[in-house]
Amino acid sequence: MGQEFSLIDRYFRPLSQGLSQDEIGIGDDGAVLTPPPKHQLVVVTDTLVAGVHFPEHATADDIAWKAVAVNLSDLAAMGAKPNSFTLGLTLPEHNEAWLHDFAQGLKAICQRYRVPLVGGDTTKGPLTLTVTANGWVPTGTALLRSGAKEGDKIAVTGELGDAGLGLKIALNRLSHTEQAWLDEPHKNYTALLLSALNRPQPQLEIGQRLIGLASSAIDVSDGLLADLGHILECSNQLNESLTDELAAEVELGQLPLSDAMQHWFRQRPEWTLPLAAGDDYQLCFTVPPKNWDGVVRLAEQLGVKVTEIGRMKRAAQAKRGIYFSDRSREVFADDSAYDAFLQTIKQSGYQHF
Ligand code: ADP
Ligand code: MG
Repeated sequence: MGQEFSLIDRYFRPLSQGLSQDEIGIGDDGAVLTPPPKHQLVVVTDTLVAGVHFPEHATADDIAWKAVAVNLSDLAAMGAKPNSFTLGLTLPEHNEAWLHDFAQGLKAICQRYRVPLVGGDTTKGPLTLTVTANGWVPTGTALLRSGAKEGDKIAVTGELGDAGLGLKIALNRLSHTEQAWLDEPHKNYTALLLSALNRPQPQLEIGQRLIGLASSAIDVSDGLLADLGHILECSNQLNESLTDELAAEVELGQLPLSDAMQHWFRQRPEWTLPLAAGDDYQLCFTVPPKNWDGVVRLAEQLGVKVTEIGRMKRAAQAKRGIYFSDRSREVFADDSAYDAFLQTIKQSGYQHF
């Protein structure tokens, strides 16, 4: 790319601010970063491909925000304090207007979470972004997917499913009636749902503060069932004796649903949205009962919604993996609706059912 250098100077170098004096960001062959004493480096990376991870027509500023946000969300799940990130950018053409918007989105998230862009690479090809972010945790304290124990409570931050419904809107998958239903209350539900999809807010603060309280954590990127499934697998691997095998009991009626989703549910109670749609970037974590009061206080202090959605149990012969509590049936009009729901979950290929 002939214009590579002016592009970097103009759009990316200004985002390298906020490093300490002895650190080096954009402009040299590599970034130089200084870890605080007694901390470990946490590194995460995620690639987003146009048409696969975001719709082809997504706006440049949203694409930039999301590429960074999904990485910060991984850092949040590890309990890490974000430090900085690099950007591998593959562009089909040099489009000044697009780059301008893209840089705006990048700048917005750099400022919001105080993370500088410290390097990257720019090449020509189909639109693809690879962000590699790094952060620090006090040595030996990183939150892991393993570590959940029998009796632990299962909790999530925020609300689930909005991004999934937002995606349906973005892809024009709703009928006119459905769209009208969402627009009807004049509450900007459509805008809220699209924002959940395009501008996820990584739960960085609570992630760091869950160290010492949570026994395991993951961010919900692929949907609650899939990601809680990872906690189960990893925690079971740690503890291979079959008698102690863990299962997760989820209380459907407790899943946190936004006002927009509750409104949607009055027309179409689509439980696959909060359970399996993905892209929520909330944290799902487990908490030993003795630490639960601490989590409730922390949530209040930070103004972050935290909801208990189930518990870790010892697997019984009939109930392994993830299953729904007996009371979960109550959220359905009748037994046949519940059975149809279970069938849908099974058909969605979710392996734990
Ligand atoms: P090199 O040839 O040594 O890899 P480059 O010419 O690719 O260096 O990049 C020059 C500088 O600009 C480096 O500091 C690099 O990290 C930075 N850079 C290149 N592309 C990007 C990008 N997309 N985002 C942020 N920084 C970038
Ligand atoms: Mg290069």
